[in-house]
Amino acid sequence: MTEPAFFEQGTPVGVLTAEPIGRVLDYTAPEGGCVIGAFVEVPLGPRRVMGVVWGPGSGGFDRARLRAVGQVLDAAPMRDQMRMFLTRTADYTLTPLPAMLRLATRAPGLGAPAATRRVYRAASQPPSRMTPARARVLAVMESFGGLALTLSELAQAAGVSAQVIKGLAAKGAILEEDAPRDLPYPMLDPKRPSLPLTAEQTAAADALRQKISDGTYGTTLLKGVTGSGKTEVYLEAVAECLRKGRQALVLLPEIALTAEFLTRVQARFGAAPAEWHSGVTQTERRRLWRMAGTGDVSLVVGARSALFLPFRDLGLIIVDEEHDSSYKQEDGVLYNARDMAVLRAALEGAAVVLASATPSLETWVNADAGKYARLDLPGRVGAAELPTMTAIDLRAESLSPNCWISPSLAQAVTQSLAQGEQALLFLNRRGYAPTTICRGCGHQIACDDCDARMVEHRFQKRLVCHQCGATKPVPQTCPACGVTGRMAPVGPGVERLAEETIARFPDARVAVLSSDLFGSARALKAQILAIAEGQADIIIGTQLVAKGHNFPLLTLVGVIDADLGLQGSDMRAAERTFQLMRQVAGRAGRAARKGRALLQTHQPDHPVIRAILGGDEETFWRAEAEARRSAGMPPFGRMAGIILSSTDMAQVFDFASELARRDGPLRAVGAQVFGPAPAPIARIRGRHRVRLLVRADKAAPLQTALAQWVAQLKPPGNLRVVIDIDPQSFF
Ligand code: ADP
Ligand code: ZN
Repeated sequence: MTEPAFFEQGTPVGVLTAEPIGRVLDYTAPEGGCVIGAFVEVPLGPRRVMGVVWGPGSGGFDRARLRAVGQVLDAAPMRDQMRMFLTRTADYTLTPLPAMLRLATRAPGLGAPAATRRVYRAASQPPSRMTPARARVLAVMESFGGLALTLSELAQAAGVSAQVIKGLAAKGAILEEDAPRDLPYPMLDPKRPSLPLTAEQTAAADALRQKISDGTYGTTLLKGVTGSGKTEVYLEAVAECLRKGRQALVLLPEIALTAEFLTRVQARFGAAPAEWHSGVTQTERRRLWRMAGTGDVSLVVGARSALFLPFRDLGLIIVDEEHDSSYKQEDGVLYNARDMAVLRAALEGAAVVLASATPSLETWVNADAGKYARLDLPGRVGAAELPTMTAIDLRAESLSPNCWISPSLAQAVTQSLAQGEQALLFLNRRGYAPTTICRGCGHQIACDDCDARMVEHRFQKRLVCHQCGATKPVPQTCPACGVTGRMAPVGPGVERLAEETIARFPDARVAVLSSDLFGSARALKAQILAIAEGQADIIIGTQLVAKGHNFPLLTLVGVIDADLGLQGSDMRAAERTFQLMRQVAGRAGRAARKGRALLQTHQPDHPVIRAILGGDEETFWRAEAEARRSAGMPPFGRMAGIILSSTDMAQVFDFASELARRDGPLRAVGAQVFGPAPAPIARIRGRHRVRLLVRADKAAPLQTALAQWVAQLKPPGNLRVVIDIDPQSFF
């Protein structure tokens, strides 16, 4: 790495701001000069905005007329690697650079001088006059030893007014001082011993340690069934990274998983890591952002956007449950955190560990091709065995109308309950019923603004659109035929399944885990903990429960509708169903008692259902990979989804057709365009949606071609064009 360039006062510098201007602006370096990467404040029209010194000025302007950088902010300058990372992610995702900078600076008051707060500390000199209130303050100070307390903390603990404390401070009986708010995080101690690892874990941990001590880039797939001890293994990689004095980042797909992870880190390293996700306060965000830059935080656990923190020396990135679709951000900047983690690590000379029981096909293929290393943990730790998986053929079961638990499944649940064990009934559908229909005329209640049926949520007593969130009351009278009292729910959601469960197992304690039933991440965490402690007999859950939670008493998993994900034309349907079913089944029997999973299906002979039951994963992946290869689909080819939307249906179709006709720039790189076609959800929030798909060979310079292609036509008025590189979902 070269020394950071320095710009003398008055030299033109290019400054990138997070404002939607689309280019780097020229200013002159301020008094005292500035380094490349410096965070600065610059005048922009009448405002002052934050920016980063991106390089020398472009020089196309009269130097005398350039405005000067206002001031250099008190923050660690952005490193070359980070600027490169933002540039590359912007190019890859076809996102304007300012939007990338916005992602990388999502914390308030980044450049403000380190904030302080007034605190009080014990002093040795007693006050000349002692009162009971004063005595209480001194007693509290003493009980806190040398620790500093704020005015309100101290007043509350001692049960006195602020006046009493101020009085003591004025007399010198306690010390009043300013302490910095942005304190470094407690250091983690990598020398503390780990659990005694199994032979398989030791081998995997050794291999990872070796890669990290090399200090060069490399990606490893850590594949192991749920409960095989992957977390324990990658914590060894973290330990090695910390020993080398570098920072580590662990990405998790779900905030609800962080609680358990924090506890494990605390146990392993004697202190908790820093957290970065939507549930973290603004003050804490600022603190973490700054400490990442100065190196005063050694381990961060977070959601995908933690990837854009300004780490000073990032040595390791773990992407846990790497197959999880939530790593793909689906609005704003459309990026896949798993893939961008690999890019960032390559730029930082860091190692990446992609951990999963059911890797994404992309990762499996990369490992198969030798691009990624692969480590396997084939068995569960200790006594825990993998659950047996069996199909329940729904064609052979007699189910009453509006019931979804087959006699065979009910019998298994009864058995689990009798043994004092937990059962999980899995249905990946939120709400009470997916459809509300008029039995008189067949009319289905749809969202007014979206091309989607409204889902009844009985808990909220409303119909909800899962696309836009609009709600309305459940009508008594059919809006189409005007007949009253014939509206009926059709099909099951988790709430309805809970109703059936309670009716069939009246003595069991039933808990429903669905993301929409919890107001806060905290409430959800509490519920998960309660279940883990055995405060429920039957758990009803959506895909939320499939993700990594540990329920030691759970021995039976019943999948209500294993066929659900196989409908539709998504090329990932098979892969997704396979992953989800194996993940859900993996919840069973994670402790000493053996588990089993029962899959209700109408098509037990479907190849995907057979692959799930048969457990021959490598054969499944190989067949999937082959199918994708012969179709030239990702990861063997490249794809982009283009969603065009407008309130005017004719306008958006005309525009999309014209774009498809002008495919010269795409054909020049051998790419083909498909469509236009109505998007699978043809209307969201009143906007009509049309989709184009572009496919190219792996080596084609797709982004450049796409940029030239869409630049040919200026979208009229309210028409929006969104380009999604490597689309994950097609909605
Ligand atoms: P995974 O991440 O593969 O699902 P975990 O690392 O969470 O697996 O391990 C599953 C369970 O086994 C956890 O409760 C963990 O504490 C425990 N465990 C893992 N490794 C060991 C070990 N070597 N000795 C004892 N318990 C272990
Ligand atoms: Zn809607």
